[in-house]
Amino acid sequence: MRWAVHPECPCKGRTGSPADWVESRTVSMMRKLFFDHALLPSGWATDVAIDVKEGVIRAIHANAASDGREHIAGIALPGLPNLHSHTFQRGMAGLAEIRGPEGDSFWTWRQVMYRFLGHLTPDDVEAIAAFAMMEMLEGGFTALAEFHYLHHDFDGRPYADLAELSGRIAAAAVETGIGLTLLPVLYAQGGFGGTAPNEGQRRFVNDVERYLRLVEAARERVRNLDDAVVGIAPHSLRAVTPEALTQVLAAVPQSPVHIHVAEQVKEVEDCIAWSGRRPVEWLLDHAPVNARWCLIHATHLTPDETHRFARTGAAAGLCPITEANLGDGIFEGVDFLAAGGSFGVGSDSNIDIDAPAELRQFEYSQRLKHHARNVLARREGESTGRALYEGALAGGTRALGRQIGALATGHRADIVVLDSAHPDLASISGDRWLDSFVFVAGKAAIDSVIVSGRSVVTKGRHHRRDAITARYSGAIARLTA
Ligand SMILES: [Zn+2]
Repeated sequence: MRWAVHPECPCKGRTGSPADWVESRTVSMMRKLFFDHALLPSGWATDVAIDVKEGVIRAIHANAASDGREHIAGIALPGLPNLHSHTFQRGMAGLAEIRGPEGDSFWTWRQVMYRFLGHLTPDDVEAIAAFAMMEMLEGGFTALAEFHYLHHDFDGRPYADLAELSGRIAAAAVETGIGLTLLPVLYAQGGFGGTAPNEGQRRFVNDVERYLRLVEAARERVRNLDDAVVGIAPHSLRAVTPEALTQVLAAVPQSPVHIHVAEQVKEVEDCIAWSGRRPVEWLLDHAPVNARWCLIHATHLTPDETHRFARTGAAAGLCPITEANLGDGIFEGVDFLAAGGSFGVGSDSNIDIDAPAELRQFEYSQRLKHHARNVLARREGESTGRALYEGALAGGTRALGRQIGALATGHRADIVVLDSAHPDLASISGDRWLDSFVFVAGKAAIDSVIVSGRSVVTKGRHHRRDAITARYSGAIARLTA
């Protein structure tokens, strides 16, 4: 059965009959949709007919007749990919906002995160993941790259099933309907130079041999999801050795590769102390960075690193809201894009899950840095909202390694529909819709969301919101008691 990704009980904790699940997961019949307006690769179009079968757009026509079609009122956009998330961190959102004795930073936040994850059961992981994914869909993200580093039981020993928690992520993706690129994380050491892992890291740690078994097991767990992809994620240069990095790249030569890099000033200083090079510099000198790579954060770059990175074709995995929340710093966005760099956005710590807000924060960070406006639009007269949206579509799609990111034949039917009657959208058109969506109305303007041809959000609400929220609330009540 297509929904049976969990080996024990795939409908555990869910309401509704399994028959609903089979039907809702498998859109094998042709679905004939009709939209008032849509953003196509060629630009804005009206009266757009889209035929979807088995999750994929089979035909698309503008200026079409609506006869016999399912009319979905509003403005259709390709759904944005969320290229970086740790879903479990949604459960601790807001728990690290109390001032400590001195110098709160990413590193003090990390201590709170380690304490929180020390209590998570597999059921908790699944409940929190489903809640986060539901919010992503309601917030304009239709696909997710989950950077999944929580692997083992409380004492650091593997579960009987090595991919137990990868399976929970897959089950949450099935329940919510979000598109999935699962990135099992290799975390092999506590810090630069082979430092032993500390107690807070014991649920993450694998050697290369066990990691590669985990990747294989994760592939099994997502086999029945619509077009899911499993990539690899060496956690960071501080958590993997050069030898381990070389080994996993050789063992998995095709899939997406994601890595955290240069998020923190201390990380840059530690990398220089270890190797004599800055993190991005080290990576560009020692690893075959190309278009299958996504460098997460890459916050601290020299001009030389910025230009070299832009030329690789790798995406910059920007998480502007989390980077602001953690006090990481500001990415070299203007120079990177001017050099031809590719970017996407991710919700990372999931402190605030909201696709248009990530784009807005990216632009605003650059405005504050450069004391200027509309700095990420590419040319005079271009809409900043459209430049941000199309940029994040292109880079995010590349980072997820899936056939998404465009309303075009052969792509998955991942569609976000804005409410054209929303007061901020009703009297404008074209690129002004995107400017208003990104800078004014935000996710409140989202009316419906379709993933792989299946409706998952209507009137701004996920179809399983009540059940998913009840399960999440129960988990959080126990974890914070
Ligand atoms: Zn991260």
